[in-house]
Amino acid sequence: MSRPPVVARTLPALRRALAELRKRNASVALVPTMGALHDGHLSLVRLAKRRADKVVVSVFVNPTQFAPHEDFGSYPRTFKADASKLAGENVDLIWNPDVKVMYPDGFASKIATEGPAVAGLEDRFRPHFFGGVTTVVGKLFIQCRPDVAIFGSKDFQQLRVVTRMAADLDLGVKVIGAPTVRERDGLAMSSRNVYLSAEERAVAPTLYRAMKEVAKRIKAGKSIESSLTAGAELITEAGFVLDYLEARHAETLAPIKSPNQGPIRLLVAAKLGKTRLIDNIAV
Ligand code: AMP
Repeated sequence: MSRPPVVARTLPALRRALAELRKRNASVALVPTMGALHDGHLSLVRLAKRRADKVVVSVFVNPTQFAPHEDFGSYPRTFKADASKLAGENVDLIWNPDVKVMYPDGFASKIATEGPAVAGLEDRFRPHFFGGVTTVVGKLFIQCRPDVAIFGSKDFQQLRVVTRMAADLDLGVKVIGAPTVRERDGLAMSSRNVYLSAEERAVAPTLYRAMKEVAKRIKAGKSIESSLTAGAELITEAGFVLDYLEARHAETLAPIKSPNQGPIRLLVAAKLGKTRLIDNIAV
């Protein structure tokens, strides 16, 4: 039987626990999360276990990446269940700081990123988002000094932004992307799926189906523009309010007009009732 993970809630406790983990030169992987863990998160933990000797999972609902009108207050918080799932995965350490530990009174700094962070996707609809993400992920990297960090491709722009930031700031962390884990009907797993009513849950996989349809059309030689228009129709007809459905260069996130301009990633964000869902696939 392996031991349940150590839970650190203060910086001194984190430092002590990390020093213990790093004995005998063990390598450390970090998996940043906001908790409400599902199988998508656990797939990142499993990948982390394959990439490093020790695994640290942070569970922190980060207020700075939510706008005042967004769901910070209602975001699901299920720490007990999360901790037992992480124990089941033999995670070594859970970093679960309080907001005041992460952002003490007087906190006044921010990591600002450009490039993929200003691609006109999530940043267009959530202008505060990447400033909050990069600041908290930067802090997590500095606090935990991991050798590798695992992020989901589910949040594709975020993966690109964090990868860029880690390289630009010489943080010494190798950022690894993990595939998106889906429900059987194709809906990407997300902590926010619990917000969906039964009717909305039945409609939600349309996002994935529409992207598959767009990919199929592009592969069949139809224009990217007409394929996206057809996909957008499927999504709005299903009852979503579409924020964006776009074809972008998979590395740079630059807009792409024809398949010979590079590997294509389709990215979508849409609201179903009060719930905003995002997803993406490769073409
Ligand atoms: P979150 O707790 O939603 O901030 O997500 C924490 C990490 O889990 C991020 O790197 C996400 O991209 C990743 N993640 C969320 N949902 C999934 C999923 N369905 N499949 C794979 N990774 C995911």
